[in-house]
Amino acid sequence: MGSRPSFLLALGIAAAVGLAAGLTGACSDVPRPGTPPRHLLLITVDTLRADHLSSWLYPLDTSSYPLDPVTRGGARDDSIDGLARAGVSFARAYAPRGQTFPSIATLMTGLSPLEHGARDNRDTLAEDVETLAEALTAAGFTTGAFTANQLLAPGSGIERGFSHFVCDWRSEDRDLAVLQAASRWVEEQSAAGAKRLFTWVHLMGPHLPYAPLPLQGYDFDSVFADPTYDGPANGSREFLDPAYEQGLALGPRDVARVVASYDGEIARINRLIGLFLLGYAQRGPDRDRLEDTLLVFAADHGEELHQRHGYWGHSKSVYSSVLHVPLFFRHPKSLTGRRVVGEVVELADVAPTICDWFRVKVRGRHAGRSLLPLVDSHVERPFESRPAFGHWQDRIFTAATDRWRLVLNPDGVVPEEHPPGPYTVPPVGLFDLRRDPRELHDVSAEHPEVVRELSRAIDSWLSGLVRREGGGGLSPERLEALRALGYLGGDGPEPR
Ligand SMILES: [Zn+2]
Repeated sequence: MGSRPSFLLALGIAAAVGLAAGLTGACSDVPRPGTPPRHLLLITVDTLRADHLSSWLYPLDTSSYPLDPVTRGGARDDSIDGLARAGVSFARAYAPRGQTFPSIATLMTGLSPLEHGARDNRDTLAEDVETLAEALTAAGFTTGAFTANQLLAPGSGIERGFSHFVCDWRSEDRDLAVLQAASRWVEEQSAAGAKRLFTWVHLMGPHLPYAPLPLQGYDFDSVFADPTYDGPANGSREFLDPAYEQGLALGPRDVARVVASYDGEIARINRLIGLFLLGYAQRGPDRDRLEDTLLVFAADHGEELHQRHGYWGHSKSVYSSVLHVPLFFRHPKSLTGRRVVGEVVELADVAPTICDWFRVKVRGRHAGRSLLPLVDSHVERPFESRPAFGHWQDRIFTAATDRWRLVLNPDGVVPEEHPPGPYTVPPVGLFDLRRDPRELHDVSAEHPEVVRELSRAIDSWLSGLVRREGGGGLSPERLEALRALGYLGGDGPEPR
């Protein structure tokens, strides 16, 4: 009970910040029934597998971890599951690539990595691509970004359109630090009279190493662990990288101990998000900022977690463990009741959806589609269904439907990413997602017609791309960022 004031303080939430002035009438030109949102809050979480959320029927309460009633802000449930329940969730949302920068750049531009130029964490965004923040700035939004990942930093191109950009990856508790910075910024902008805010927060919790810090007296590292386990496994890179590189045989209890730490990281960011939203909402006499906000929640990619070749990370994978991501939209004034949409969608669809929702003009072209027809029953427009496409570099390709995943590796390449270790991808692999959601059994020989159909879809997608090259060459800062995240070996070759 006594923890509330200290955590409110810790998150930079002042109790009596004045309400922003002039918050009326800005959206009166939107003819759509229902109340349009005023603000946009985008929360992205690094390395968060969709199927490790409780709302995806994961057996542990990772994303519904109960908040104390006193910190919950009343009846609203600000856990990730609670937020998803109040909105529209996409059960089949896919990232284009198992890496942070290409994937987040896709979310922010509505383009495939092969189109926005950042195919890899080493690349920067192509110059002539418009970002979501640029489009929203042109529409009158005040924009702020708060990222705990050193790859999402000024100089990469992802900063374009943000008037305020905080990348804090050096603080011991970087997720808490960026949430504190975001809380302060939201209050400052509101006090200064900003009418419409676009706030982007990117959290790192579930990224390697899996070593959740204690928070509010909770030991998140052991909350899901078997207390009788006394083996050597843990979520550190010092344990996991050599175990993978040397093909160390880990038993089910070793794997479970590591995954328990990963799940603890999810529970921790779940709690941090709940506390952040309590301040963001700023209940006042006549408004609740969260109710005036379109909240978009997504991940950049998931994590293999030892599912394939003993690999724990994400960069090498083109499978659902890494490409299937959570995605939901919440705006209680226009979306009522929980809905889960089964349509296959992509992170490239997020920016077009937001621009459509806010009626914001875009300068260039989005390859993604607006999801508004699937989200808002008042929008009577057809939605074009298609597979979700993904890739590793420009060499391995994949397409997923609601039933199948096809993986094509025509040159038989082995994904080269740090840490080195076994990771082969077959020339052709087809997986039946209904019978084999973990994609472990290749059924391409039994279903040649599906292989043909999805191969044609991949060809057609590739031939329709408007390709761009991102910036090459690595600044010393980006090189340090890649090394710190474990994408480069300490004494490995310089990246190309
Ligand atoms: Zn990432």
